[in-house]
Amino acid sequence: MNTSQLLQTVNSFWDHHITPTLTEYIKIPNKSPSFDPNWEKNGFMKEVLDLAVDWTNKHKPKKSKLYVKQSKKRTPVLLVDIPGELDGNILMYGHLDKQPEMEGWDEGKGPWSPVLENEKLYGRGGADDGYALFASICAVNSLLEQNVKLPRILILIEFCEESGSPDLPHYIDLCSDLIGSPDLVVCLDSGAGDYKRFWTTTSLRGLIGASLRVDVLTEGVHSGGASGHVPSSFRVARQLLSRIEDQDTGEVLLDELKTDIPDYRLDETEKFVSILGNEVVEEFPWKENMKPSSEDNVEGVLRRTWRPALSVVGADGLPPSANAGNVLRPYTKLQLSMRIPPMVDPIKAQEAMRKALTENPPYQSKITLDFEEGAWGWNAPETEDWLSNAMEKYSKIFYGQSSGSLCEGGTIPFMAMLGEQFPKAQFVITGVLGPGSNAHGPNEFLHIPYAKKLTACVASILSDFPKK
Ligand SMILES: [Zn+2]
Repeated sequence: MNTSQLLQTVNSFWDHHITPTLTEYIKIPNKSPSFDPNWEKNGFMKEVLDLAVDWTNKHKPKKSKLYVKQSKKRTPVLLVDIPGELDGNILMYGHLDKQPEMEGWDEGKGPWSPVLENEKLYGRGGADDGYALFASICAVNSLLEQNVKLPRILILIEFCEESGSPDLPHYIDLCSDLIGSPDLVVCLDSGAGDYKRFWTTTSLRGLIGASLRVDVLTEGVHSGGASGHVPSSFRVARQLLSRIEDQDTGEVLLDELKTDIPDYRLDETEKFVSILGNEVVEEFPWKENMKPSSEDNVEGVLRRTWRPALSVVGADGLPPSANAGNVLRPYTKLQLSMRIPPMVDPIKAQEAMRKALTENPPYQSKITLDFEEGAWGWNAPETEDWLSNAMEKYSKIFYGQSSGSLCEGGTIPFMAMLGEQFPKAQFVITGVLGPGSNAHGPNEFLHIPYAKKLTACVASILSDFPKK
């Protein structure tokens, strides 16, 4: 295989067929069902599905077949089945649903207004994870152009990842014949430590989403008359949170949410920090003199990859500050997002949270706690030699630097499902979410030069799949 020809093909394909389509894709507010309960009626998902189907029909490899499955009341999945000449079964994965808008976009930019600036394509969902389908097909095509013999490849694209992939188990079941038993899983939905090398992800955290509501009155009353005597629902909520999290350090206090970090992941984290140095701190948009929770960078990285952590991501019962009267409000509702380490059972973790948050409620306040479907984290199996050699070799060829591996603090529910179902499968979990790319936040961007090289790397790794 000629790697410089491959890179040329990939670059030109990106310029002509991927970047323009992603620009159109960004304009469609296809929020994941959790953030758009009326998604069926609103029709944005259908719009994205149509865009993806049209594009795929135009560009898919000659002998491949496109399937769209959509069961009643469920989000669709799109599958591209590319027959191979070699033994083996490769599964490539991505998703086409998006996170919600989020505030704080720079002037002139916005979630649904694509902007191309300094070879970065800004807008929601381009990097997370709109490019995956297009880049996967580009990678395969660039190999077929050079008559590289490949095993069978199945590309699977889902539409509810950002909601925790609730529809995916159903489709894994429904399409089990098509999916078969993958030898290699390629996931293009993850992070990059920098934009200088090929990165793979070796672990992911799981996720527990929950809403916690504290009711103290049936309606709001004058705070001048009630406050002090009537306990504040906010204070009660704060008290409850302190049962699960040390308010001074942020440490999660429940043992069921912790895990013993394997030594090899500690070593890996040390290596990661030695490559990136203080970048692991500087990648965040700190306000003024704000400091991280730990001065020790290895510990800091572990806190966002292998330790549980709580974020309060939304609230109800609180009017906007500009419209807030002096009222003792009847209730406070907080949306909790608890990241849990790999290997922690989300069901047991939920039960521990339920116990801590609902038993003996202060003042017998009414506590309502609703959990979303929890997601497991994931810890990679040992990487086979051919694969680690390929990642290293092609990172050097296309980026001029050794490859890197990292533990990711985010969650990709499908990887845990696959890891459990196919314990012998190898994984390449990679992606374009490098420093500043800010998936889920404002100013999300896709670093196009990085994505092109990544596509070339992934293609080349596929070409090294062992011939049996
Ligand atoms: Zn994603």
